[in-house]
Amino acid sequence: MIPYGHQSIDKKDISQVVKVLKSDWLTQGPKILEFERSLAKYCGAKYAVAVTNGTAALHLSYLAAGIGKGDKVITSPNTFVATTNMLLVLGAKPVFADIRLDTYNLDENKLAKLITRQTKAIVPVHFAGQACEMATIHKIAKKHKLMVIEDASHGLGGKYHGGKIGNCRYSDMAIFSFHPVKSITTGEGGAILTNNKKLYQRMLLLRTHGIITDNSNNKVMVELGYNYRLTDMQASLGTSQLKKVDGFVKQRQIIAKQYAQEFKNFKAITLPQQLAGNYSAWHLYVPLVKNSWLRDLLTAYLKKNGVGVNFHYPAVYSHPYYKTHGYGKIKLINEDRYHQTCLTLPCYPGLKTAQIKKIANLVKEFFS
Ligand SMILES: *Cc1c(COP(=O)(O)O)cnc(C)c1O
Repeated sequence: MIPYGHQSIDKKDISQVVKVLKSDWLTQGPKILEFERSLAKYCGAKYAVAVTNGTAALHLSYLAAGIGKGDKVITSPNTFVATTNMLLVLGAKPVFADIRLDTYNLDENKLAKLITRQTKAIVPVHFAGQACEMATIHKIAKKHKLMVIEDASHGLGGKYHGGKIGNCRYSDMAIFSFHPVKSITTGEGGAILTNNKKLYQRMLLLRTHGIITDNSNNKVMVELGYNYRLTDMQASLGTSQLKKVDGFVKQRQIIAKQYAQEFKNFKAITLPQQLAGNYSAWHLYVPLVKNSWLRDLLTAYLKKNGVGVNFHYPAVYSHPYYKTHGYGKIKLINEDRYHQTCLTLPCYPGLKTAQIKKIANLVKEFFS
């Protein structure tokens, strides 16, 4: 079975992890700071906070942003549930903006009319690794005094108008996930990037139980916090992986071009687009099929023939939990069309040209 995504681990990665295993530090130690510094430097942001996973990164960033009970946060319905679950956990209410059908990202032109007095923040999700229209989103947020937190889980290694995704030029914070299918991996892992020292310090505090060392060198708890610490084994893997991220994303770019070439003049599916000014990290390659019936049949056909196609994502509001928690009636035209017709084809460094051809031929065969 060809999976839809897969990690790339080499001997160097392994030897870095083994080195840590033979050292005195296993939990958060010197490797964390090293990883955070390389990540911040790579992205062009001032600070990075490494945490246990992308979900924890979302939770900490929302806490640092002061999001709490009764606050509304505008985001995309085309995301992994973690983006909005961490809002629900805080008693905040996700408000879903419809998406664009060219990028499958939230439509920046539909934001303004969703803003009310309760709105606290906007959380753009860079779907499949292509940035949202951040300059416009930033302008709207500034006008209404809203925080902007980028869910950049898909975007490490991608660029937006020349700047790296994660540089926080148009946001207060950006979060990453290092789950094995993402641009780089630490097994489980995540990070928050920011240029704001106060937010940075607050996230460091909340990462370790809200405990500080006071003037008399006592450890005292001053805030209600968590244990969201990453291990040094994971951080050393992260630093090693980060050195290769440009190559990984380059390979994903090549795969996207190969698919586009294979499906040139093939009208049965609509291919994903990379807009001008963008360099997508191509976390996912998602064409659209004409209708949900054909999509489901094509999915079954490809799976039967050894291609691990996937579905990213069912609209967050279509999940049973959301349906029974206030989102039973929501209708967003583009999102509804998108999630009924989207299909994720395999895309990851290491996917061979022959495999891409096989996948493309199977799709063509299905429609012939
Ligand atoms: C992967 C992902 C997350 C969560 O990351 P974990 O590391 O799995 O907790 C959040 N948002 C999006 C869009 C993701 O793809």
